[in-house]
Amino acid sequence: MTFDEVLALDAADPLARHSNDFVLPAGTLYLDGNSLGCLPRAARQRAREVVEQQWGQDLITSWNRHDWITLPRRTGERIAGLIGAAPGQTICCDSVSINLFKLLAAALSLRPDRSIVLTQAESFPTDLYMVEGLQDLLGHSRCELRKVAETDIAQALDDDVAVVLLSQVNFRSGQAHDIAALTQKARENGALVIWDLSHSAGVMPLQLDTWQVDFAVGCGYKYLNGGPGAPAFIYAAKRHQEQIRQPLCGWMGHSAPFEFETDYRPDRGIEKFLTGTPPILSMSVLEAALDTFADCNPQQLRDKSLSLSELFLQLKSGQASLNELELASPADPTQRGAQLAFRHPEAYAITQALIADGVIPDFRAPDLLRLGFSPLYLSHQDIWHSITILTRIMTRETWRHPSHQTRQTVT
Ligand SMILES: *Cc1c(COP(=O)(O)O)cnc(C)c1O
Repeated sequence: MTFDEVLALDAADPLARHSNDFVLPAGTLYLDGNSLGCLPRAARQRAREVVEQQWGQDLITSWNRHDWITLPRRTGERIAGLIGAAPGQTICCDSVSINLFKLLAAALSLRPDRSIVLTQAESFPTDLYMVEGLQDLLGHSRCELRKVAETDIAQALDDDVAVVLLSQVNFRSGQAHDIAALTQKARENGALVIWDLSHSAGVMPLQLDTWQVDFAVGCGYKYLNGGPGAPAFIYAAKRHQEQIRQPLCGWMGHSAPFEFETDYRPDRGIEKFLTGTPPILSMSVLEAALDTFADCNPQQLRDKSLSLSELFLQLKSGQASLNELELASPADPTQRGAQLAFRHPEAYAITQALIADGVIPDFRAPDLLRLGFSPLYLSHQDIWHSITILTRIMTRETWRHPSHQTRQTVT
């Protein structure tokens, strides 16, 4: 592969024009959109408007004048378009962790004669911790965490499993599950599913309605580019909404919050998953960030991210000095999400050396260098340059410099 061939890939890329939608720091190759997406221009503009005009000038009247009150629902419906959900089933609120708590409790109450929450041991830790917390609260007879290896999920589905909780894309390896197949298998065994789409929304083509998924959560600050700490989302299939109750009964989930009634009467639809007042600043910014997705279909996003990661692997295989970085992700692109992970005993120092040279990936303990291939703002040229820089670091062993060895708080 020559640089001219790489340029030709960019010239043919239908998403290339979207890089103009983002504020990208000069001289930075950003391969960490799976941890924190880049800043969309529309989001920056909205932040200014919301702070200066809506909050600064219009104050409390903005709840009506700028429709703050329907922001969770509006933002949810924009996300719905990216996850294959018909209207009325997706809402933006809280963090993934809090949303998992609400959904786990709701789902368990739909299966009162079962107690197991089945998940994979390699889950993102917060997903495991939230089940543990609920287990302490409800007791093991009502909630029992069962962790199995990624490959053993299907066999572990027995009559005691109430809920299967899984991330579509493994946050370390990028290994992707087949949501349709596992959801069907769970249903045949009488279990409900909760899919964590944190590493999927905005980059994987999803058809939650078609696949008859029960519940899902996802993250606003990764591929959706909603900004640091952006609120998350919940999907709850229409067929479950009437009967379920979630335990964090706050006034925003009440069917008439401004009646200020003494007793809790949940909203009958997706709004019952709201708890407290929405974070207007950050949710407005996320809503604007979703504008960038308005005219791209999820399959295009998927094709582009795979084209970038396949190019990375191809260019890497041409550099002998990169052989010691061992692929920890599936080599088959259909089996992985939009990231690649490489194992190396010095992965932390290599990550630091890359950052010092303007390439931003991240490190995941104990020994993974992780690279995200966000399709809206990365080009094939960026991948070429990243490989050049990585090759230089590995050949010259600049990662050995003491300044790259000190572990910082956030990796
Ligand atoms: C990023 C991520 C989260 C984040 O959870 P928060 O509570 O929103 O911080 C949860 N689960 C997975 C799989 C993630 O990748």
